[in-house]
Amino acid sequence: MPKDAAFRDIHSFAAGQWVAPAAGARRIASAIDGEVIACAGNDALDVQSMLAYARERGGPALRKLTFHDRARMLKALALHLKEHRQALYDLSFDTGAIQSDHLIDVDGGIGTMLVIASKGRREMPDGHAYLDGPVEQLGRHGHFMGRHIATPLQGAAVHINAFNFPVWGMLEKLAPTLLAGVPAIVKPATATCYVTEACVRIMLDSGLLPEGALQLVTGGLGDMLDHLDCQDVVSFTGSAETALKLRANPLLLERSTRFMAEQDSLNASVLGPDATPGTPEFDLFVKEVHREMTAKAGQKCTAIRRIMVPQASVDAVIAAVKERLSKIQIGDPRRETTQMGALVSIGQKRDVLKKAALIETEAERVFGDPDAFAVDGADTTKGAFLPPMLFHCPEPDTALRVHDTEAFGPVATVMGYRDLDHAIALLNRGQGSLVASIITNSGDVAREVAMSSAAFHGRLYFNNRTSMKEATGHGAPLPHMVHGGPGRAGGGEELGGVRGVLHYMQRTAIQGSPDILTAISNHWVPGAQEKSDKPHPFARSFAKIDIGDTLHAGPRTITLEDIETFAHFTGDTFYAHMDDKAAAANPFFPGRVAHGYLLLSFAAGLFVQPDPGPVLANTGLDNLRFMAPVQPGDAISVRLTVKAKTPRNEEYGEVRWHVTLTNQEGAAVAEYELLTMNAF
Ligand code: NAP
Repeated sequence: MPKDAAFRDIHSFAAGQWVAPAAGARRIASAIDGEVIACAGNDALDVQSMLAYARERGGPALRKLTFHDRARMLKALALHLKEHRQALYDLSFDTGAIQSDHLIDVDGGIGTMLVIASKGRREMPDGHAYLDGPVEQLGRHGHFMGRHIATPLQGAAVHINAFNFPVWGMLEKLAPTLLAGVPAIVKPATATCYVTEACVRIMLDSGLLPEGALQLVTGGLGDMLDHLDCQDVVSFTGSAETALKLRANPLLLERSTRFMAEQDSLNASVLGPDATPGTPEFDLFVKEVHREMTAKAGQKCTAIRRIMVPQASVDAVIAAVKERLSKIQIGDPRRETTQMGALVSIGQKRDVLKKAALIETEAERVFGDPDAFAVDGADTTKGAFLPPMLFHCPEPDTALRVHDTEAFGPVATVMGYRDLDHAIALLNRGQGSLVASIITNSGDVAREVAMSSAAFHGRLYFNNRTSMKEATGHGAPLPHMVHGGPGRAGGGEELGGVRGVLHYMQRTAIQGSPDILTAISNHWVPGAQEKSDKPHPFARSFAKIDIGDTLHAGPRTITLEDIETFAHFTGDTFYAHMDDKAAAANPFFPGRVAHGYLLLSFAAGLFVQPDPGPVLANTGLDNLRFMAPVQPGDAISVRLTVKAKTPRNEEYGEVRWHVTLTNQEGAAVAEYELLTMNAF
């Protein structure tokens, strides 16, 4: 194996040790000139001790932390990576990627981690169990309740990643996994693992991760999958062929090991029938197609492969896309003027040409000649360069290959449709995709496509003149939205905010008395024990308030004068409060009733402690229900109970209070959750 100063040994990080390549190592070549630049892999890697290290060290250490602790750790890790990202850019050029591709991979990965961290702080509790859905009353008198909780799996998450995004591909899985409290073993694709290795080194060197939380396998994975059990997860990204081979492992099947697959996909974009040449949508469509064909040299799992346009616009679309493609500068990714770099390897280039040849049996190549194209500053015979190739399929109904062949490079096929039904039929022939885009300014077109096609796609991206300035692009998976798709796309799902975290957790239905549910969930459940009201809960700091602390106040009798005063003061003279006869004619009211908002105000008047103290602000009110009318002469009482506490920062945290208003007979007339910010 040739070795010079630039040659790098790519290590694995196994059971706390960096392990150098040895027997079984694979060579890695630069995409730019085909020179061997590194090697990775070691057949002697002890996969069983890696799993034990994750399960016995990493898992327990992570599970000791709360969701908020882990979210803070992720944020710090992301900021640390941001400081060191130049090193990752520098390495990434050899993968064929240009600077704007690095931004998608490196900055996109860091940004994803930051969003997941922020969602962890805002949408998950500062505890160890995630509450999934509301409490269900299972017994008639409220002594037997149920709710769903999610707790971290107690095994390891094995992430097998594709070559195209060596940083984003790792971080978009790592962030939800660590937030869930599960250790990860990352196995990047060999072709670009030197970038992933550098990123893992930065994270481990930061000292921010507990021991055992992150390990790395470069090169072959050995027989690790044979040693997984029901507490482990495999999260795979790559080709359909590899996914099929791996998920069919009999031991994974026997042990019901979770297996998520994100695989290749024949993503499509539809130009709406309304988006004729000359409209802003037409130009937008051409721009999106061009970007998806050329960003990362078309090596994006979400890239547009099939382009569906109204029959009458086929020529205009081809002409406009060709015009843009003809201006693209292909070349050495390190040159600032380069707009499209190389594919990842000569092997990948060969594969794309083979797939393009299959497509060419059903479609005419209208742009891009792989045997004659200009490359700036690099040798086309050595580097993995290809021009963008646009095809036109005149008979998409009888064609097969254009709907099922993923040429994972700058390749896409235009096809005409007769009407919207025809467009939808073609769209769904991809048999499941990660994303389909529809460029239209018509709500009717959008609704029709969504209803007839959403079941075939993980994401539908609509764009038009209103959204185009802010839209994030057909091909960009966002941490807030699910990424994955049915059928051909693998049937998996990632990201989507907290949804993505739950893939690494077990959802369990818990049933029991209100006290038992409160103890497990750390959320007060109605019917559970009420704790002290002394001193007044509003006089206690965030740290001194306990779940279940309860204050009872009242009664206060509601008079007709109260109602009149409130009505005239606020201007709310709705007839149910002002006109006895009209109110009684309404099926909900016996006669004139108090305003619901009057009751809320009186409740606050009953429970508030007026002096300056730890309660800083009332920040909202959730789940308000008015349950029974209150008439003049009725007397209301209020019960205020601490339901949950969520720290927000070093200075204050949110307290969620369960508030119930009852009348003189003890019947509930209103219920809600009050939110306050309380100082520590
Ligand atoms: P691939 O050849 O299927 O490889 C994917 C991963 O599987 C690599 O890490 C590879 O490692 C590993 N692998 C292969 N055989 C294995 C085995 N027997 N045991 C364990 N691991 C094994 O895919 P790729 O060429 O890297 O990526 C391109 C494909 O990924 C495209 O089809 C693209 O559409 C798809 N993709 C999908 C998404 C998505 O989110 N849906 C995202 C990106 C890419 P080695 O490299 O060491 O062989």
